[in-house]
Amino acid sequence: MNTNTRLIETPLMGLMQDVPLLISSLIRYAADYHGTREIVSVTSDAGTFRYSYGDAYKRSCALARALEDFGILPGDRIATLAGNTHRHFEVFYGVSGIGSVLHTVNPRLFEEQIRYIINHAQDRLVFIDPEYAPLMEGLIDDLPTLEACIILTDQEHMPATTLKNVFSYEAWIEGQPSHYDWPEFDERTASSLCYTSGTTGDPKGVLYSHRSTVLHALGAAQMGAMALGPNDCILPIAPMYHANAWAMPYIAAMVGAKLTLPGTKMDPENLLTLINDEEVTFACAVPTVWTMMLEHLDRAGATIPSLKRTTIGGSAVPIAMIDRFREQYGVEVLHLWGMTEISPLGTLASPTKAISSLSQQEQALILSKQGRAMFGLDIKIVDKNGAIAPRDGETSGALWVKGPWAASGYYRREDEILLDDDGWFPTGDVANLDEFGFMKITDRTKDVIKSGGEWISSIDLENAAVGHPKVSQAAVIGVHHPKWEERPLLLVVPVDGETVRGPDVLGFLEGKVAKWWLPDDVKIVDELPLTATGKIKKSALREQYKDFSFEA
Ligand code: ADP
Repeated sequence: MNTNTRLIETPLMGLMQDVPLLISSLIRYAADYHGTREIVSVTSDAGTFRYSYGDAYKRSCALARALEDFGILPGDRIATLAGNTHRHFEVFYGVSGIGSVLHTVNPRLFEEQIRYIINHAQDRLVFIDPEYAPLMEGLIDDLPTLEACIILTDQEHMPATTLKNVFSYEAWIEGQPSHYDWPEFDERTASSLCYTSGTTGDPKGVLYSHRSTVLHALGAAQMGAMALGPNDCILPIAPMYHANAWAMPYIAAMVGAKLTLPGTKMDPENLLTLINDEEVTFACAVPTVWTMMLEHLDRAGATIPSLKRTTIGGSAVPIAMIDRFREQYGVEVLHLWGMTEISPLGTLASPTKAISSLSQQEQALILSKQGRAMFGLDIKIVDKNGAIAPRDGETSGALWVKGPWAASGYYRREDEILLDDDGWFPTGDVANLDEFGFMKITDRTKDVIKSGGEWISSIDLENAAVGHPKVSQAAVIGVHHPKWEERPLLLVVPVDGETVRGPDVLGFLEGKVAKWWLPDDVKIVDELPLTATGKIKKSALREQYKDFSFEA
């Protein structure tokens, strides 16, 4: 793999049009060529609301005009605290389209983090769902840059609130013309801002550009990646405040797919109804959502015949989950790896001819990895000696990325040097690559368990443990050990209504992982702490078990 760059100083330039890649072109295209394609949105005021890309375009134009009338200028930051609805979708286009910056805030963050990031971004406006009005009331006195609060509902459903300068979204855009000449500007202009959850230190803002957003959507939609098209019906379960719902609002418009937006009620019952009623073909979510969904499907004895594929990522997908989706529900899982800093999509496990010719068991093993880099994003793995790791599927090392949708720095921390001399970004993940170019994440650098100088992959152990039919969730952390430095401790949440014992789980793991990897103890717990994006919070577990000692 060539990982270095060489610049040519006097190139002969091509003679093609230098048209900037802008986000407004996506919604304009959807309106022009897929104008009647449906958008379905679960709202708190209008129930299940239906309209089309043509309608969404007109309302995005009206919003763009309302923003300009308010005095919003290019470069201004505009916050949202909102679920996946059609109004939030319009805000995605209206705000970025005029050259201002969409700052999606995760309402599940701690209040002090929300306060920090809105102040850090110096947001001028905030668009919120009605249910977040009380949250905003508690914060507003400490948010001096906010000039107004727009509640994503109509006048009739406005919540009673003590907020000042508050408007209903519908009243705010009412009367604005439904056509607008979207401005043209440099494609490297900032389009949106997303803060990482900041498990250590303050949250850090990743500032996407129009160019990065459009290229990322193009890369993700292509056949070798998500293979999305106009016949699909996409259900983004990943929230629009978590790395832009993994680009689904952009990809759906780009390919003219039907878009089903589940609102804020992401419980399995509602999602199941939506999937079946709207004939969803493609969904995306983190594994914890699907764990609940699969348990619900089992209990309800329900099926999801329209769902053909789902992409799952954000944390490792257990092989048992992939198998269950395929065998019981006929759904193909596309395992993906990504991070906010790469917009967020990086690698995706979709089969190739060479992989499809292997035995079912070998295929399952390969497709349970995080997959192949999407065209547009390069990855390199550097082993502990500083050499590029061989593609042997075994040698793990630090994962670095480079490409037009990867971050070069954090917002208002531009002085910090993140990239190496050749422009690669350190992901903080540990991974290996196999002969097919499939990457497997073995850990986050900070989660790696070091036992007697060797590394144990917590992800592999967790993956194996959730293969036990009575285990719903599993987490493995390294705990201090007097002889081996660290040894794995396994924490297990049983499937609802089931009982499971530690020795049973250990017995189940035998033969599935190397003998010296077997956890030294298993604790059965009622629940595991989750981050604001639905991942197991290992830092909290490490704190909780920091004085734990294995019995001799
Ligand atoms: P947050 O922690 O705020 O949700 P990100 O979504 O950016 O932030 O998290 C990115 C990290 O999540 C990656 O660096 C990686 O450690 C982990 N991750 C993402 N997808 C996967 C996956 N498929 N398997 C294992 N880890 C993953």
